[in-house]
Amino acid sequence: MAAAPEKQATCSICMEPMAPSEAHRGSRACAHAFCHACLAGHVRAKIESGGGVRCPDASCAAALNPELCRSALSADVFGSWCSALCEAMFLGNYCGPEDMMLVEMAARMK
Ligand SMILES: [Zn+2]
Ligand SMILES: [Zn+2]
Repeated sequence: MAAAPEKQATCSICMEPMAPSEAHRGSRACAHAFCHACLAGHVRAKIESGGGVRCPDASCAAALNPELCRSALSADVFGSWCSALCEAMFLGNYCGPEDMMLVEMAARMK
């Protein structure tokens, strides 16, 4: 069994090795990386359940950044995420500087 090359990233959801070009960072606040399919599935599930979209790693509470995840998402999912962020701001659920930045970005999408 050949050892995996050291630089190869591993998806934090399915634990499969990925080529660096396939690895998606979900947040600037952590270094976790995910494959396209896992990231897209995670974000979609979180949006459908109405919760905040956080890093899927159980030990990590970083909020995912729509801009970083955008290339893995369909336009539909990305649009719903931005609306959810706007709604969350309206309800006062978001207060961190990172969240505020996302909300401003979502507002510019309109
Ligand atoms: Zn994966
Ligand atoms: Zn993380």
